[in-house]
Amino acid sequence: MKIVQIALDVPLDSLFDYSAEGHGEIGIGDRVLVSFGRRRMVGIVAAIADHSELPPERIKPVLRVFRDTPPLSEEIIRLLRFCADYYHHPLGEVILNALPVPLRQAKPPAPAKPTAYRLTEAGVAVEADTLPARAIVKRRLLQSLKQAGMLTRDDVAALSPSGPRAIMEFVALGWAAASDETLDMAPAPVRADKLRSLTQAQEQAVAAILAGPEQFKVWLLHGITGSGKTEVYLRVIARVLERGGQVLVLVPEINLTPQLEERFRARFPALCQVSLHSRLSAGERLRHWRLAQCGRARIVLGTRLALFTPLPQLKLIVVDEEHDGSFKQQDGLRYSARDMAIARAKQAGVPAILGSATPALETYYNALTGRYHLLELPARAVAEAALPTIRCIDISRAELTEGLSEPLLAALRTRLERGEQSLVFINRRGYAPVMRCGQCGWISTCHRCSSRLVVHLREKRLRCHHCGHESRIPPSCPDCGNADLAPLGHGTQRLEASLTRIFPAARILRVDRDSARRKHALPEMLERIHAAEVDIVIGTQLLAKGHDFKKLTLVGVVNADGALYSGDFRASERLFAQLMQIAGRAGRDVLPGEVLIQTQFPTHPLFQSLIRHDYQGFAEGLLAERKQAEFPPYCHQALLRAEAAQMETALAFLHQAKAVAPKQFGVSLFDPVPAQMARLAGKERAHLLVQSASRGALQAFISAWNIELSRLAGRVRWSLDVDPLEF
Ligand code: ADP
Ligand code: ZN
Ligand code: ZN
Repeated sequence: MKIVQIALDVPLDSLFDYSAEGHGEIGIGDRVLVSFGRRRMVGIVAAIADHSELPPERIKPVLRVFRDTPPLSEEIIRLLRFCADYYHHPLGEVILNALPVPLRQAKPPAPAKPTAYRLTEAGVAVEADTLPARAIVKRRLLQSLKQAGMLTRDDVAALSPSGPRAIMEFVALGWAAASDETLDMAPAPVRADKLRSLTQAQEQAVAAILAGPEQFKVWLLHGITGSGKTEVYLRVIARVLERGGQVLVLVPEINLTPQLEERFRARFPALCQVSLHSRLSAGERLRHWRLAQCGRARIVLGTRLALFTPLPQLKLIVVDEEHDGSFKQQDGLRYSARDMAIARAKQAGVPAILGSATPALETYYNALTGRYHLLELPARAVAEAALPTIRCIDISRAELTEGLSEPLLAALRTRLERGEQSLVFINRRGYAPVMRCGQCGWISTCHRCSSRLVVHLREKRLRCHHCGHESRIPPSCPDCGNADLAPLGHGTQRLEASLTRIFPAARILRVDRDSARRKHALPEMLERIHAAEVDIVIGTQLLAKGHDFKKLTLVGVVNADGALYSGDFRASERLFAQLMQIAGRAGRDVLPGEVLIQTQFPTHPLFQSLIRHDYQGFAEGLLAERKQAEFPPYCHQALLRAEAAQMETALAFLHQAKAVAPKQFGVSLFDPVPAQMARLAGKERAHLLVQSASRGALQAFISAWNIELSRLAGRVRWSLDVDPLEF
């Protein structure tokens, strides 16, 4: 009997044996339908065996083999296996969750609408010149079709907003016909337009990456903000495309995809490029995934979920802003897309480029110790653009007007007079971080989380930014009845109100998750900033990354001190990266930039390094601290997380877990402690930290421990987090 071992989306760490009799050819990666318990489930054939441990009468048959999509490649299954092993997560869940949603469902996806158009013979015979001169879009469409032979729906829409109408007319005229874009076709030509000359540092970086043989190698491209890292990616990618390869580009955040997509499209206009991120509809995601899987999409650009896209011709992986914490998934399979990207590059034998202005300390350490290869872009690419000057304003002495110091207000005034743009950065949305009673000291807290309720004055609501809980602002203090409750501290909304009062003539725009909630709101706001329709931008970290505002010459940072003395050992690393990013928004063009940081601790080493733009000095200082404290990268960590209705229950489980921990691996186990956010959405959370200088020992320990943990019963939800970022 031919036995297939099926991966199913169930929280059990095993594959399941089924009989493949009667299904003819069936192989690894095939999608199948099986019955599991009383349910029917979609699974993936992960292995083939010639016998099973189960008695034959208990082996159920595969009900159906789906043939609507090619099987998952062995390469991808190998990667997912590695990922499941590394993070000690059930293989079936890992494999099934890597698929686009329609492929996880028992009913086959509906036949797609035409996804592409090709020129018919009648169309080939039409000369663009014979079309009316006014019909610009049709002329361009015809030319593009002639050049590329086939255009996808996206290509047509990208050509012009009226492209889709024009193509329907072509179809009606018999010039074009619907086609399936996943059919083989000649690879689109890679056209490199007139290219600007590279800076010397860019030149060296590109040459270094292209010089070696095609093999696994990790490059750390450490380039200050505005140094032209993207241009380096583009040059290397161009070469890979010429050789027929596919490229995977990962970015930390959805909001960064449109502008990067645009730059890539401008450079490689005739090329099929797709994006993958959670804001696409399920149908679009499936379509893009299939285009990648069949090899037609040559550039795949996406957030961390794009990592698991099948790419038969993968020749290069780029991870932009590699230091960003968003690459790590914080629930379910807690994987780091950056780390798994490197694992994937290694399996595929291709290079990976990690780019950042402020590399993660782990990454930088790997470069210093020679595991990665360091490339530096130490100056801005635009010849006239200098790095902004950074200054601290000591607010322990200064008089503040609505949270703003006189030097910052004066600098804003000057920019307004000169017609230049300013950005005031504050990483707190809402009106004020908390509501307070001046009489008894009551403050608004969330009853479901260990957090405060944020004041949203316009909506007259108190909101928890962690669990989403909302209530109206109480008319008086719930504890003492005092009717004079006051918002305490500053958020984006309050800053907006203050600046509007202080500079009534200024055009002020607030950019935070609340104002960007509506679809297309963010691109529209960015557009207004670029078009210089805004004088003062109030922004959170939504604006910190990637954006290139040419007229922005002043960045004010209102309050950054919270992270300086945090209990989280990564807090200062994150703060430094964030301030470097936000400072990097100023003076990106010919106008010089200035950055003013309001702080109570102007002499703190973090600010001193920042003022000198000295990532290296800062990183070396942190590394020395981490070495002494034996923190990562000088050790490897894993966290056992537990969640229960009562804190005692969670802690008791963790104590049990510690007691059953195997002893022979020499790892250190710490005492169970409540999580930093001890209560979240009504659940009490605690964890137990394990660490070891040896990654191998830690991995072996977790494998053995995991088996013991599964035997512990209790009303506790637990999970393992390898290389945790949040505690
Ligand atoms: P980074 O990604 O390192 O922040 P970008 O790639 O966005 O930098 O480049 C910053 C700016 O410099 C962009 O406006 C880009 O067009 C410009 N630029 C990049 N390379 C060059 C070059 N070789 N010569 C002139 N300008 C360049
Ligand atoms: Zn009170
Ligand atoms: Zn809450």
